[in-house]
Formats: sequence, structure tokens, C-alpha cells
Amino acid sequence: MAACALCRQIKPLKRSHLLPKAVYKRLRDPDAQNPAPVLLTGPKDFQGSHQAQQPLLCGDCEQRFHKYGEDWVLKHCAQDRTRFPLREILLGAQATSVTDQLSYFSCRAIPQIDAEALTYFALSVIWRSAVSSWQLADVKIPRNDLGPYEEPIRRFLHHESDWPNGCFVWVVVSRSTDIPLLANFPEVGRCRNWNSRTHRFAMLGIHFQVELGAGIPRAAYGFCLRQGPDRSIFHSHLPDRRVFDELSNRIR
Ligand SMILES: [Zn+2]
Repeated sequence: MAACALCRQIKPLKRSHLLPKAVYKRLRDPDAQNPAPVLLTGPKDFQGSHQAQQPLLCGDCEQRFHKYGEDWVLKHCAQDRTRFPLREILLGAQATSVTDQLSYFSCRAIPQIDAEALTYFALSVIWRSAVSSWQLADVKIPRNDLGPYEEPIRRFLHHESDWPNGCFVWVVVSRSTDIPLLANFPEVGRCRNWNSRTHRFAMLGIHFQVELGAGIPRAAYGFCLRQGPDRSIFHSHLPDRRVFDELSNRIR
């Protein structure tokens, strides 16, 4: 028995994962010489069958994370090298804007996309990366710092309060025809153009970026998947960093 990091009640804790357990299985490439998953962990890339896991949440809070984020995201991210349901939905939908490098779609016009689940999941992963340090075999994954946003994010994830102020989420779906069966743990940096901190990670063809800060321009929120009027989702073959740099250059 110990205090659950989300509800803070003293309960038996489950072994929680930094990225969902099912991801590790899906990262295995049966055609590769070494079928163990490849995870880009920052300090060094990792290939092996270990998983970043530790006692963190009670059973009810684990279920909450499944129900409000993970279940939908796992069903819609890349399932293998040929099936990628979220991208298939976008390919069958009408984009709001299309350029060679980037298109975006309004989730309000595409009811099959659960923007709530995508954004809840994004916050749940970066929050997990901040409330504890994690370890993958001998690779220590540094603890991310959410600063004053950690507690409002916990309260939102536990459904005690609304979406936190100063919190902005972008999601980019890979357009690459060779579906990247890769994942990386959350990394943190400073946004070049806005006074905010950037937390990003990618998982099976979907790139998630959460900006936290009081300096995010008001115009940027128009493109936030949670708060924008269109609930925009992006589709691009550019690596996520370049997409975000390009967008944040346009909005200052
Ligand atoms: Zn709990």
C-alpha cells in the first residue's frame, strides 16, 4: 500500500507504464533481425524487451487512464506496418488546408476522431514523465519538470478541474508511407518562438506536443486540438519538430 500519484489515496499500487504496455509489443518488428522494440530514449537509443514501469497508480486510476485516453489512442495509432486507422480516417476526410508539406483537418467535422482522448492521453504521458523518474534496463530516463503546471494537470486528469490554463496541445499524424514503428519518451525544451516550455513525444505514427507557458500567443490557441474552434489535427511527412517550428514561426 502506498499513495497513488493521481488520486493520492493510500491503496495497493499497480505497475504503471510510462508508455502503454501494448506499445512495446507493437514496436516489435517480426521481420527485423532483432525483433525487440526500438525506443528512442534520449540518452541512448534502446533496443530490448524491457519496459519502463513501476508502481505509481492504483487500479482505479489505471482504469481512468485507459478509459479516457489510452484505449482510443491504441486502437487508432499504427497497428503494424500496414494498418494505421487514424491516418486512414484523415485520408478519407476533407482537409481544411493542404500544402505539399502539411495539411490540417478539423476534428469538429470528423466525428470518428476523439480529440478528447488524444489530448487527455498527451497530458497523461507528460504528467507520468514528471511525477517520477523512470528507468529502462540501465538507461535512466530523466524526470521532466512541469513546474507550476504539474498540479493543475493532475487535477484535470483526475477530473477534479477543467483543462489547465496556459496549456496547448498539437498532434501531428505521420504522412510517411513507410509507417515508423518507433516511440520516444517525452523530452522537454524551450520553445524558440514563444515564452513556453515544450514537451514532446511520438508513438507509433502520432507526434504529440504540449506547450506550457503564459507566453503562448492567443492566435496559437486557434490551432490547439483541445481549445481551438476547429480542433485542428495535422498531417505531415515532416518530422514533428519541423512542423512545430514552422507553425510557431507563423504565429508569434
Ligand atoms: Zn488512484
